[in-house]
Amino acid sequence: MNQKTLVLVIEDEPSIANFISSVLNNHGYKIMSCRTGKEGLTMAASHCPGVILLDLGLPDMEGNEVIRILRERSNIPVIVISARTQETDKIAALDYGADDYITKPFGTGELMARIRTALRHTIHAGNAKSFQSGDFRIDFERHQVLVGEKNIHLTQIEYKIVALLAKNAGKVMTYDRIIKEIWGPYADNNNRILRVNMVNIRRKIEINPTEPKYIFTEIGIGYRMSDED
Ligand code: CA
Repeated sequence: MNQKTLVLVIEDEPSIANFISSVLNNHGYKIMSCRTGKEGLTMAASHCPGVILLDLGLPDMEGNEVIRILRERSNIPVIVISARTQETDKIAALDYGADDYITKPFGTGELMARIRTALRHTIHAGNAKSFQSGDFRIDFERHQVLVGEKNIHLTQIEYKIVALLAKNAGKVMTYDRIIKEIWGPYADNNNRILRVNMVNIRRKIEINPTEPKYIFTEIGIGYRMSDED
């Protein structure tokens, strides 16, 4: 299925790099790896990998700087590998355009799920006319939101938030990124209005708003729309 997908691993800790390589090998991916940001950028440019796994703490440069440079040239999905002590860097990485993150230590199942999501996201990206996850559906042309057969009435702001998350389904959208997209680049960097809107959105679309099925909270980071079919 993913026989030919090339994964670039930029990680300087040999134990983690080896673990990732053996897992990916067993799942039929092709792997290239390196231990510095500079090598990583060169390899990304010359080999065009399907996904990049990027450690945030590299010997020669900040992982975030790698993302910033990468994003000037390409949309290759980037999954950040971070340590617990790098929470703030992780959020910055998502703001710079990383697609997802995985926190050390992580297991095989989690790693594979993140890679599948990132790849699916590349395939679905573009100008989709509708979005569907389970019973939840958005028709972007009609600005219509449905749960099952039920037409959901959202305010304009609520609709914009839901549509933004759906267009980036599977991907973590940081609070900051959502706020800038919805309220503009000079918006007050305060999550309160966003949180209030989210409470109302969930009340309208989720069967049980305290256990959401469609829009998940990434605590302290942002929101993620489910991309399960
Ligand atoms: Ca490191």
